[in-house]
Amino acid sequence: MLRQLTAAAVRRLPRPSPHPTRGLAAWPSPPRPPRGGLSPTRQPPPPPSSPPKRPSWDPNWEGHRGRGNLLPSYGRALVAGRGKFFLVVAVGGGTAYYAAHQDYAPYTNRRRMIDLSPEDEAELGQREFNRLVSSSPTHPPGAPTSRLVTRVARRIAAVVPPTPTPFDWRFVVIAAPGVVNAACYPGGKVVVFSGLLDALPPGREGEAELAAVIAHEIGHAVARHSAEKLSFANLVLVARAVLFFLIDAGALVDVLINVAASLPMSRAMEAEADFIGLRLMAAACYDPAAAARFFQRLDQMAGKRGTPPPAFLSTHPSDKRRIEQIQGWLPDVASEYTLGCSQRTQYLDWLGMAGAVRVFEVPLFNCVCSGRLRS
Ligand SMILES: [Zn+2]
Repeated sequence: MLRQLTAAAVRRLPRPSPHPTRGLAAWPSPPRPPRGGLSPTRQPPPPPSSPPKRPSWDPNWEGHRGRGNLLPSYGRALVAGRGKFFLVVAVGGGTAYYAAHQDYAPYTNRRRMIDLSPEDEAELGQREFNRLVSSSPTHPPGAPTSRLVTRVARRIAAVVPPTPTPFDWRFVVIAAPGVVNAACYPGGKVVVFSGLLDALPPGREGEAELAAVIAHEIGHAVARHSAEKLSFANLVLVARAVLFFLIDAGALVDVLINVAASLPMSRAMEAEADFIGLRLMAAACYDPAAAARFFQRLDQMAGKRGTPPPAFLSTHPSDKRRIEQIQGWLPDVASEYTLGCSQRTQYLDWLGMAGAVRVFEVPLFNCVCSGRLRS
């Protein structure tokens, strides 16, 4: 009885697992295919439907390059593994940094991020201005072109409101025939290229259109667009680093950032400088409508040169759209221009000539002749 019970108990015992070294020999070996190839009734196993399971941190692994999969191996590892933590920290930290450096543009109240102090921005502007004037021929201070630019720019500078930017005005004409351009570096460094003066009509109309250009450029400085661009470049660096990890298409990332963020921002800044320029023109008693006439002139010149790129691929709005926008703003600034400008014009001219009030802070015009700075 005991022997029968013991035998039954042994039969019910689970089969022992194969020992790694000894037990393997006890199990029957898998059937081998017959010689001469597979039998016609026996088909090879189908290929696995799932991708290879080896998402390691291996830049040489090509398994992720399947159809429709834009995430590279390190990007998937970042999202799926410990990298998710760093991704959250990067995005969260960037958002917090953005929120902590919020700023509002004067005149338009446009919200943006600026992480550069006005003093640092003015120093950068001074450096760029020095670099330009030390390497370019300029008109002497007594030249009619220099006197015209100085008179117009001083009149506009006299109505620039006090802003965080420390303005230390300089006005220079660069001898560059054919260059229809002007600029105002941060801190109030106004540069006019002689090609622009050649393109303007003579007389009061030419002076008003020159005022439109200078007011627009000073508008950029008043709104601190240089600091905003530098701050935006820092944000783009962080965004590119994150997107390069996630999307396996470097060129696509650059195009996306450019079309979706950089170009619209540049066009917004141009429109903002146009608007601030109109306000400054009106306050300085220059006819703001001259700005529209100047851009019509530019449009005609561009028509002779060829077709400009479409607006959405350009840093500047198209001249036609710009003219429409300016004409739409003219009624808003008309009252400021028409209200008592007959007296104010004389007063402003006197300010510019006598160097009183804010213009008193305007230092003497610096001239760079033969590449050397002279005061
Ligand atoms: Zn501009």
